[in-house]
Amino acid sequence: MEASFDIALASAYVNAHMYSQGLHVSRVAAKDSDFQGVSEKRYEIKDPKEMSRLIKKIGALFGSPLVRIVKLNPEWSYEHAPGDGRGYKYGEPVDIPEHWQYGIIMGIPLSWETREGAPSFFHTFEGYGNASMHCARMAEFVKKLGYPARENSPHARYEYIMPPHMVAAGIGEQGRLGVVVTPEFGPNFRPSMVVTNMPLEPDKPIDVGIRKFCMNCKICADQCPSGSISFDGPKEINGRGYDGWQINASTCHNFWMSVPNGGCRVCLAVCPFSKESNWLHTTARDIAVRERTGITASTLTWMEKAFYGVNTPEHYHYKEGTRQFDYLVGEKPWFFESKDFLKEN
Ligand code: SF4
Ligand code: SF4
Repeated sequence: MEASFDIALASAYVNAHMYSQGLHVSRVAAKDSDFQGVSEKRYEIKDPKEMSRLIKKIGALFGSPLVRIVKLNPEWSYEHAPGDGRGYKYGEPVDIPEHWQYGIIMGIPLSWETREGAPSFFHTFEGYGNASMHCARMAEFVKKLGYPARENSPHARYEYIMPPHMVAAGIGEQGRLGVVVTPEFGPNFRPSMVVTNMPLEPDKPIDVGIRKFCMNCKICADQCPSGSISFDGPKEINGRGYDGWQINASTCHNFWMSVPNGGCRVCLAVCPFSKESNWLHTTARDIAVRERTGITASTLTWMEKAFYGVNTPEHYHYKEGTRQFDYLVGEKPWFFESKDFLKEN
């Protein structure tokens, strides 16, 4: 059976998510849609704290296990449109209306079953699709209570920069791999945010020791196939008043465009915080981030490498002139083994 048949299966899965993206983007999130569909009657909010509690419950019912509130910071927004969409052309100046006050941030984990299939069989499109749908539902919920809302999601695109808002909202801490690492799912999740002026109570940042853990760990930097992740300490990002690690987005993008289906995510797959929660992983991580000497963290990093391997960046590269799909972090998911399901022809 040709290896490309495996990729065909994975592509069908990815395209199913991308198709839903097309439908969604054609309908929502233009910059002039803030007040479209907003109920004429505005329901007054009794208590922002209680309303925030309700929003978190509704977000969970919509399917997001992580829901937090943040006070929006206009400094943490894009100056120019990062892509076409939302009524912008790529590179056009972004204008952030003054009426936005709060962000309702939601997060959904990516599939654990495809994680070990990175880089060729681990796709974020399912996360993009699910996060975007939850975001659309929340925007509609807010509008029906009489408040304007705008989606910031993978499918609807973003005007706000997510990592600093997520850190401020206590979703997690920014990790070396350039995205936020949560205590619940590590970096293996996708976020979205509904911005609104509904009165809400912002959450507070957390310090559960993830950033400190990243100072020593460096597994993602060791294995990144494109060398896009820094081995240095965190630093201020683009003079925006927050600091963390920033990856080389160009080299990362170039690598994952070379992978079938635009995959990669090796960094997410190898991060010790990305392990699906079982008692052993949960306990080990819990101790590692609390224990101050760093010995437990070093031991956990060592165990991670011992159990899950120490692939070099070259491990994931294609041999010249071939289309090799099998250099993976771990096992290919069984449901992408085409020989079990498709006839050769
Ligand atoms: S997605 Fe791949 S190329 Fe990009 S930073 Fe992560 S490991 Fe490196
Ligand atoms: S792999 Fe290690 S250094 Fe990289 S984000 Fe995860 S914990 Fe931090």
